[in-house]
Amino acid sequence: MGLLEGKKGLIFGVANNKSIAWGIAEAARKEGAELAFTYLNEALERRVRPIAESLNSELVYKCDVQSDSDIQEVADAVKRDWGSLDFIVHSVAYASSDDLRVPFHQTSREGFKLAMDVSAYSLVAITQKFEPLFTNGGSILTLSYYGAEKVVPHYRVMGVAKAALEASVKELAVDLGPKGIRVNCISAGPIKTLAATGIADFRGLLNHFEARSPMRKLITIEDVGLSSLYFLSELSRGVTGEISYVDGGFNVTAA
Ligand code: NAD
Repeated sequence: MGLLEGKKGLIFGVANNKSIAWGIAEAARKEGAELAFTYLNEALERRVRPIAESLNSELVYKCDVQSDSDIQEVADAVKRDWGSLDFIVHSVAYASSDDLRVPFHQTSREGFKLAMDVSAYSLVAITQKFEPLFTNGGSILTLSYYGAEKVVPHYRVMGVAKAALEASVKELAVDLGPKGIRVNCISAGPIKTLAATGIADFRGLLNHFEARSPMRKLITIEDVGLSSLYFLSELSRGVTGEISYVDGGFNVTAA
């Protein structure tokens, strides 16, 4: 019997088959989860629908996480289609390339708000609207990066948004703990995805990581997928508010 047999999970953040959310969805499906997906816009729907179908899922909903009404509509649709929910994967982030290109102190007000809204507040909004669907406890998992903690070159406003996201994970964990809803975060090492193309000199980041991380190799979306099984399943039933590294990151300093 799979670790997620009988569990229903909603995945936010698949853009294509390189997305971290896709690595998580594949791993969850292999362990028996039933899955539903969201997509940002019509252009992405064309990519997400076949990906969802390849994992035997026909439940694909439009959701721009900047829109409360979109999030509510998805919550209503999931209630109609499934009745309840066991887990959510929040694998969503965005900052405008204009703000990622300038030094942090030149971040625009609008750019700051946008990065915070999509990359951090969306976890709060999603938790708020979906809480009633977790009738038997549940697990919410989000994705962060080491730039939340230390200044990583070129990560800029996104580092600040990730710091807010990680603090939100802890706040939400405390609020929802009494209902048996756990909220955790995987801080993944750098992976070449669509979102990563917005970060300048991402190749340099990958090289640095490969040279300095404890295992001296890049991690993959499959690695993140395997780790997510711990958080999405009963294996972590006593764990909440955790920021867990799938990398070991920048722990090894240069000789
Ligand atoms: P990705 O581009 O495949 O996924 C990002 C997703 O965010 C996309 O599906 C995109 O459609 C979605 N998105 C953006 N704005 C949205 C909005 N307004 N509404 C709804 N969805 C929106 O890239 P990824 O690397 O798989 O990113 C997934 C998560 O992992 C992000 O939170 C990212 O910061 C995090 N992360 C990535 C890395 C990396 O190196 N790639 C490392 C650590 C953490």
